[in-house]
Amino acid sequence: MSAELSARVIDKLKTLQMPGAGKDVVSLGLVSDVFVSQGKAYFSISVPSEAASSLEPLREEAARLASSVPGIEAATVVLTADRKAGSPAAAAQSQRPAHAHAQPRPVAKQAIPGIGAIVAVASGKGGVGKSTTAVNLALAFQANGLRAAVLDADIYGPSLPRLMKIAGRPQQIDGKLIRPMENYGMKVMSMGFLVDEGTAMIWRGPMIQSALLQMLREVAWGDLDVLVIDMPPGTGDVQLTLAQQAALAGAVIVSTPQDLALIDARKAVNMFNKVEVPILGIVENMSYFVCPNCGTSHDIFGHGGAKAEAQKIGAPFLGEIPLDMEIRLNSDAGTPVVVSHSDGPHAKAYREIARRVWEGIEGRAAPVFPEITFE
Ligand code: ADP
Repeated sequence: MSAELSARVIDKLKTLQMPGAGKDVVSLGLVSDVFVSQGKAYFSISVPSEAASSLEPLREEAARLASSVPGIEAATVVLTADRKAGSPAAAAQSQRPAHAHAQPRPVAKQAIPGIGAIVAVASGKGGVGKSTTAVNLALAFQANGLRAAVLDADIYGPSLPRLMKIAGRPQQIDGKLIRPMENYGMKVMSMGFLVDEGTAMIWRGPMIQSALLQMLREVAWGDLDVLVIDMPPGTGDVQLTLAQQAALAGAVIVSTPQDLALIDARKAVNMFNKVEVPILGIVENMSYFVCPNCGTSHDIFGHGGAKAEAQKIGAPFLGEIPLDMEIRLNSDAGTPVVVSHSDGPHAKAYREIARRVWEGIEGRAAPVFPEITFE
């Protein structure tokens, strides 16, 4: 249904002429994928950055045309800056695997106004505790005094609504931005709030990219020091594109200590290296086992594997989180340990990891003054 509506919006936009080009915006390839949810259409039009302000009437007309399609109540249209040939973003785009070119999105890697740093939490495969880490890390940033929020980019298996115990639909503000959901004093956005479970399963890559970029750019995040993105598991095209387009301050890789998980973690590290996103470090999750009866620790999972791997690849080791029933139960109940057991050892470990990540970001952000010599 929404694919059909998207196609109708595109058809309608074929009547919109790009000023000075003598052609319509669709045939010029300027319109992104159109994402339709709950009767609202979201898309962007790519324009030269210097012409963006004079093209405001074009944006308004595009929104008007889209909303005139039966079944569409409102449209959010943004103008995105044209990607200049030869720019770093363009170079990064050209590294995309050939099959990712099916429907290129001409969106430049842009910083998001009001957001200080975007940190991706990623893993080479699912089930290693990436989402649990992302949520607790974001809450730990907040506990450390930073303004933090978290975005669930795992479109196929959104888990933030459950992990943060949030239900309901986000509202639109002024017909433009989406107001993020909130719990534990932290803003949260997830595809799980927008579409019913299962809907996204039929989406193809370009639609997912488009939806992700909307959630990133058209949400009223407000002023944030840090936005944590819970990345989809693995290292496919969606992850790669997000890493390319989201102006990331860096990535935190979550791995369990076993060899096989570490091989996958290495793939994730390579992927970020490829698009020049700094690795802020590696977290070893389910590092050792804490016996629920006697409380003693057991190294039955290859404890220390991620630390050794971090050393091998020259990435910072951020810390280890044990496999503990308390973490699992609270994570699955939507009461993350950082807020529900804020005085406990796990909360302390997450806060320490958050401190190290932030140190890494600030270290990189520090200005480097070139040495000027006079002859
Ligand atoms: P991913 O995002 O990598 O798929 P999740 O964060 O959803 O992983 O975690 C998978 C499962 O493992 C969940 O049931 C979660 O509660 C549990 N889990 C994650 N980290 C830990 C931990 N350190 N100790 C115990 N259980 C954990």
